[in-house]
Amino acid sequence: MITIAFIGLGHMGGPMAANLVRAGTRVLGFDLVPASLEAAQAAGVEIVASAAEAVAASSIVITMLPNGRDVVVAYGDSASGEPGLLHAATPGTLFIDCSTIAVDEARTAAEMAVSAGHRALDAPVSGGVVGAENGTLAFMVGGADRDFLEAKPVLDVMGRRIVHCGGTGLGQAAKVCNNMILAVSQIAVAEAFVLAERLGLSDQALFDVASNASGQCWALTTNCPVPGPVPTSPANHDYEPGFAGFLMAKDLGLAEQAIELTGVDARLGLLAREIYADYAAGEGAHRDFSGIIETIRAADAA
Ligand code: NAD
Repeated sequence: MITIAFIGLGHMGGPMAANLVRAGTRVLGFDLVPASLEAAQAAGVEIVASAAEAVAASSIVITMLPNGRDVVVAYGDSASGEPGLLHAATPGTLFIDCSTIAVDEARTAAEMAVSAGHRALDAPVSGGVVGAENGTLAFMVGGADRDFLEAKPVLDVMGRRIVHCGGTGLGQAAKVCNNMILAVSQIAVAEAFVLAERLGLSDQALFDVASNASGQCWALTTNCPVPGPVPTSPANHDYEPGFAGFLMAKDLGLAEQAIELTGVDARLGLLAREIYADYAAGEGAHRDFSGIIETIRAADAA
């Protein structure tokens, strides 16, 4: 039986690891937070005393950590000489990082893994906590063909759509580009509803027209920012996430880094970054990102 080390058992990693256990995989888990460890243990994850211990006994290592810095730090040895994950692993271990991190950080982490004699994939996800719990995440994977093929059955357990996007870092590239589209389109849809309201057009009439016309998009037909037209959208539940504003702000920060790295003229992406940074600095941090419509309405009323 394959043994997998799962490092980072938070909102996403906890249920992802639980799905692996349900599928019959032996999972050795580690997290810094006792509550996450207890929840994972209750789901059948074997909790060990350190990340190094989990990694040393596994052929695949999955990390699901907050940021790129966390991944790079966890991979490397500490300043005080504590062995990091790469040092602790047996040669040839497959490292799969599912955290959402910058493209260049993903490439750095993968280079560190390869230099240490291992293999590495970047495999960020979309689908949120509900997707993690239901095993319906979308995985965007960057790395070598043969490593992707080895990882695919493992990712299939946790997700429904697994796309090999190309070489190292291109999983993160796909994630950052998708979320930039999402942010810009969610703002555009919200602006259109506020404009429609001011022109005397009802929300339902705009929805009925745009959802069947060229304005059709996920931000309108699934995540509709006004209550009514799509009963399941967060707007009907006081903008309870869904996808929280702080996570969208984080992802747009990664988009901004990628824009700076490449020099692409992506003015709407950069503006969306500013708009969501402001949103996440206030109440929007823990509300769904479609709640941005309230900020737009408030500015209109001022
Ligand atoms: P989280 O904060 O709930 O979980 C991260 C966990 O990592 C925490 O439990 C933390 O204690 C642990 N951790 C940090 N450093 C560690 C270390 N050195 N060793 C072991 N454990 C460590 O975050 P999350 O919501 O689970 O998100 C994880 C990643 O997934 C992030 O990169 C996030 O951007 C991405 N993501 C989140 C969502 C979402 O809806 N929450 C959706 C898609 C992608």
